[in-house]
Amino acid sequence: MQISALRQRLRALGALPLHEDRVLRRWAMAQPQEGGRKQLEHFLPLALREQLPGIVDELQGLVRLHSRHDAEDGSARLLVNLHDGQQVEAVLLQPDRPKRHTPALPASGVCVSTQVGCAVGCVFCMTGTGGLVRQLGSAEIVAQVVLARTLRPVNKVVFMGMGEPAHNLEAVLEAIELLGTGGGIAHKNLVFSTVGDPRVFEALPQQRVKPALALSLHTTHADKRAELLPRAPRFDPADLVDAGEAYARATGHPIQYQWTLIEGVNDGDDEVEGIARLLAGKHAMMNLIPYNSVDGMPWQRPSWERAAEMARTLHRRGVLTKLRQSAGQDVDGGCGQLRARAAAPARR
Ligand code: SF4
Repeated sequence: MQISALRQRLRALGALPLHEDRVLRRWAMAQPQEGGRKQLEHFLPLALREQLPGIVDELQGLVRLHSRHDAEDGSARLLVNLHDGQQVEAVLLQPDRPKRHTPALPASGVCVSTQVGCAVGCVFCMTGTGGLVRQLGSAEIVAQVVLARTLRPVNKVVFMGMGEPAHNLEAVLEAIELLGTGGGIAHKNLVFSTVGDPRVFEALPQQRVKPALALSLHTTHADKRAELLPRAPRFDPADLVDAGEAYARATGHPIQYQWTLIEGVNDGDDEVEGIARLLAGKHAMMNLIPYNSVDGMPWQRPSWERAAEMARTLHRRGVLTKLRQSAGQDVDGGCGQLRARAAAPARR
C-alpha cells in the first residue's frame, strides 16, 4: 500500500488535507487508537468517521511481528510478516543512554527494510543472493516504524535494512515525507542509505524533507567495487564522494560512509590510503563495520585489532571514523540472515 493511495482514499471519503494529516500522523506516531478516535471523530467528515475503524485495522495489518531476537547490546532484530506472506527484517538499534531522573524508556533508532530481497547483489550479502522479490509500499515501510514504536520510543529511522532504497525511490521518499513532517523524526535522523545512484542525487535535494545520506563505499577501487557490488551503478568512488560532499554541504548533514570490512578484500593499507585521500577534510563520517561471517559464504571478518588499527590511522589522517559492530551480532546479525533461516529451517 502506498501512502499517496491512502490519501486518495481518505479524500474520496471527504477528508480535507488537515484530516488526512491527522489520521496519518496518529498512525505514524503509533498513538492509541481509542482515545485518538474519539478526539478525531469531532473533526472528521461522517463518511470517513464510519470507515475509519476499517482503515485503521488495515494499516495495523500491514506488518505483524513474527519473532523478536534480542541481543546483549540492547538492539533487537525483528522478523516481520507482510500481509502476503513475505517477510522482511527490521532492527531496533541500541537504545540511547537512559536520561537521569526519568522513568521513560530510552529511545532508539530503527533500521527498516525497503524491499523484499534486493537486486544489487552485493556478493557478501545474504539478501543480495536471492535477488529482488518485490517492492515494499511506502505504508509498509512506515508500518515497520509503527511496529517498532509499540516496542520502544523511536527517534531515528535508518533505511538500511533489506533492499536498495534507490530502487524503490518513490515509496521511500513518501515514507520519509510522512515521518519527517508528521512522524516526529528530525530530518537529520532520517537516514537514506544507498550504494550510490544518480537518481538519488537528483531527487533528494528537491524534497521538502531532506534526509541524511549513508553511502555504501566498501572499497576505493572502481574495479573492485564493480566485483563486490555487481549490479550497482558504475560510479567511480571519487565521483561518488564528490556527489555526497555536494549534498552534505547543501543540507548540513554529514555523509555517513559505510564500509563492510572483509578480511583480505578491503582491509589493506592501500584502502586506508585511498580512504584518507578521498575523505580527509570532507563533511563525512566513515563507519567501519567488520563483516559478520555467514555460513556458506567465503568471506571472513578481520581481527578486531586490525579494524581498530585502520580506524586509528584514519583518525590520524583527518577522517572521522567509527568502528561499529553490526547491530545484533549475537543473533544472526547480518542483513537477511533471520529471513533466510526462517525460510530454510532445515539449515539450522
Ligand atoms: Fe542489497 Fe544492501 Fe544487500 Fe547490497 S548489502 S545486496 S544493497 S541489501
